[in-house]
Amino acid sequence: MHTSNLFNFDDSYLSLPNKFYSIVKPSSFTHAEIFLSNEKLCDELNVSSKKPDDLLTLFFDEGWNKNTKSFAQAYAGHQFGHFTKLGDGRAIIMGEHITENKKRFDIQLKGSGKTIYSRGGDGLATLKAMLREYLISEAMHHLNIPSSRSLAVIKTGQPVYREVIHEGAVLVRVMKSHIRVGTFEYAAHFGSSDDLKALTAYTIKRLYPDIEEDENPVIGLLHKVIANQIELVANWMRVGFIHGVMNTDNTSISGETFDYGPCAFMNAYHPDTVFSSIDINGRYAFGNQPNIIKWNIAKFAEALLPIIHPDKEKSLHLAQTAIDGFNEIWNEKYYGIMLNKLGFVSNKPELYLLVDELFDLMEKLKMDYTNTFWALSQELSMEDSPINRSDFKPWLLKWKDAINNSCGMQQAKQLMKTHNPVFIPRNHIVEQALDEAVNGNLSLFEKLLGVLSQPYQYQNNLRDFMKPSNTDFEMSYQTFCGT
Ligand code: AMP
Ligand code: MG
Repeated sequence: MHTSNLFNFDDSYLSLPNKFYSIVKPSSFTHAEIFLSNEKLCDELNVSSKKPDDLLTLFFDEGWNKNTKSFAQAYAGHQFGHFTKLGDGRAIIMGEHITENKKRFDIQLKGSGKTIYSRGGDGLATLKAMLREYLISEAMHHLNIPSSRSLAVIKTGQPVYREVIHEGAVLVRVMKSHIRVGTFEYAAHFGSSDDLKALTAYTIKRLYPDIEEDENPVIGLLHKVIANQIELVANWMRVGFIHGVMNTDNTSISGETFDYGPCAFMNAYHPDTVFSSIDINGRYAFGNQPNIIKWNIAKFAEALLPIIHPDKEKSLHLAQTAIDGFNEIWNEKYYGIMLNKLGFVSNKPELYLLVDELFDLMEKLKMDYTNTFWALSQELSMEDSPINRSDFKPWLLKWKDAINNSCGMQQAKQLMKTHNPVFIPRNHIVEQALDEAVNGNLSLFEKLLGVLSQPYQYQNNLRDFMKPSNTDFEMSYQTFCGT
C-alpha cells in the first residue's frame, strides 16, 4: 500500500520482475485544471473526495510528493499485423485503487508526459482526443459493455503540437487491469520462461482466481480470454461499434474495451464500414472484428506456448484445440445476441438464416443499424420508420411469423428493448459536441453524455439524437489514432 489522500492505493503490479514496468512520475503541469469529472464514478469507486479539484492532487501531492511508485507498463504488440516493442509511451499508472468491497482498479493517467517507452512521441494527448475517449468509454459502459471508465479530463495548460497546436489534456482512466495480449507477447519475446510464468500467475491471481487451482491454469487462462473477448466483440457488434485499432496491444486480458482511438459507431449497416484514417485495407472493419479477435487470441496462445505444457507437442495441441474451438463459441454467442436483438429468448440454429437475411437486406437497402432494430422493438410503427418500406415487408412477415411461433410479440419486444439501444454516439453529434467543448462550451457535450447514460430509454424530446449523420458527412468522416 502507498499513501494517497483520495485513493486506497496498492501496487501489486510492482511485484512482477522489473522488466515489466518502469517507475516514472507524471510531468509537472503547474497550470493544470480540471475540465470535466465523473462524480458518480468517484462515488462508485469510493474515492474519498467528491470535489473534482481534488483529483489534481494526482499531479501535485500524489504525483510528486507521496507517490514514488507510479509506473509505465512494458509491452509489445502486433500493430496491423507487424510485431513491435511498445510500452506506455504516454500513460502512467498511479496505483491500483482498492474499493470498499475489495475490487481492484488501475488508476491511469493518459497524456501525462514522456516515459522510457515514448520512442519518438511527446507523451502528450490533446483535449479533444481525451474528451472523445471520455465520452465513448462512458457510452460503452452504459450500453452494458465492459469498458475502461473515465474519471476526469484535466487540462494541462500546455500546448500539444500536431499538424496544428492543440490544448493538452490528461485523461484519468480506470480499468480492472491494463494487462493485454501484448504484455504476454513482450514476456515471450523479451523475457525468460520464468518471467512469462510470473506474469501468467500474477494475471490469473488478479483477474481469474477461480482457475488458480485448475489442473492446467495456463490453458484455463487461454479459455477465459477466448470466452471474454468473444463476449466483448459480439456485444460491440450488437451496438454497431467499430474499435478501429484492434492491435494485440489494445486487446485486454480482462475482456474490457480500451484505448479508444479511431473508434466510431456505424450508421447505415455495411460490414466493410471503416472510419480510421490509417486502416486502408479494412483490417479492422466492422464485419472483420471476429476474424481479428481470433487472430489476436492466436497470438496470445503463441505467447503462452512455452508454459502450457513441458512437452512441446502437447503444448501445441492444447493451444490449437482451444483456438479451433473459437468458431463454434463465436457462432453461438454472436447468433445468440443477434437473436436477442430480434426478440428470441432461445438460441436456435434454424433461426440463424433469418439473422443473415436481415443483414443482407439492411446492407442492400443501406438501412440504419440502430434505428432498424429500434423500430422492430416498438409497439407502434412510426410513419418514417425504416421497416415500413415495401422491400422490407417480406422479411418482416417472416420475422413476425417466427416470433409468433416462439414467445409471442409482447415478450419479444420486452427483450428487444434491453438489447437494442435507442441512442448511440452519432458521429456528427460527437464531433459537434467535441468542437464546442474544446472552445469552452460544454453544454452539448454534457447533454450528449446525459443522453448516452440512458441509451435504452426512449425519450420523445430527444429524437434529434437518434438521427444518423447525412450521407456526405458519413462518407468523408475519418477518425484518428494517437492524437
Ligand atoms: P495506441 O494506438 O494509442 O494504442 O498507441 C500505440 C503505442 O504508441 C503505445 O505504446 C502508446 O503508448 C504509444 N503512443 C501513442 N501516442 C504517443 C505519444 N504522443 N507519445 C508517446 N507514445 C505514444
Ligand atoms: Mg494502445
